[in-house]
Amino acid sequence: MKILVAVKRVIDYNVQIRVKEDGSGVVTDNVKMSTNPPDDNAIEEAVKIKEAGKASEVVAVSVGEEKAQETVRKALAVGADRGILVKADGVIEPLAVSKILQKVVEKEKPDLVFMGKQAIDDDCNQTGQMLAALLNWPQATFASKIEVKDKSLEVTREIDEGLETIEVNVPAIVTCDLRLNEPRYASLPNIMKAKKKPIEQITASDLGVDTKPRVEQIKVEEPPKRKAGIKVASVEELVQKLKNEAKVI
Ligand code: AMP
Repeated sequence: MKILVAVKRVIDYNVQIRVKEDGSGVVTDNVKMSTNPPDDNAIEEAVKIKEAGKASEVVAVSVGEEKAQETVRKALAVGADRGILVKADGVIEPLAVSKILQKVVEKEKPDLVFMGKQAIDDDCNQTGQMLAALLNWPQATFASKIEVKDKSLEVTREIDEGLETIEVNVPAIVTCDLRLNEPRYASLPNIMKAKKKPIEQITASDLGVDTKPRVEQIKVEEPPKRKAGIKVASVEELVQKLKNEAKVI
């Protein structure tokens, strides 16, 4: 079984996001970038399945600018066997990413595609679902547990009501939740070894995919600043403030 894992390069989740003065987006210059967190869970799960002898190869793929190679390299350092970088500049919307991934899937013929449930930069939660639709494959989204069966997967999903367990036939798309596993850190020897693993570079236009954005972004602005809180001396004072100032009771 071959597993393809999609990894996106995003602003690190610890970075305090700043909006550009002209409102055209957020500041990315000299900002720490990392792998989208649930994509780390996706890679970890694929590597664990391979270590358990149930997969033969794990291939990491990223779509983005040249620097997204670092994200692929990190996936190689935690156990992926080889990488693919599909170069494309500017904002690549989920529809374009899923069309690119569709082409990669047609070429690589994996049995499973693992992805993150959502990218923390655009918060779209669309790419996996669109890819499943384009390929006409079953999908299991928000996976918090995956059991590999003979020609299917048993997937436990995080849903509003709690946990739902479904069975999907392979080939399938799985989008991974943060609770799925604890991603490992890349050890120094493995980082060194990863430098020798192959990364194939292609462009979105090689695959015949037009990445022109379909959505026009009008303006990006900071959310309104929250006023500082206050401390009250007693329950009576709290009730009085909630009644007369906040007018919520
Ligand atoms: P989104 O639909 O943007 O919230 O992204 C969901 C998932 O799709 C991410 O967690 C990634 O696994 C994958 N994905 C989205 N954009 C890219 C990209 N540019 N390169 C690789 N994978 C991506």
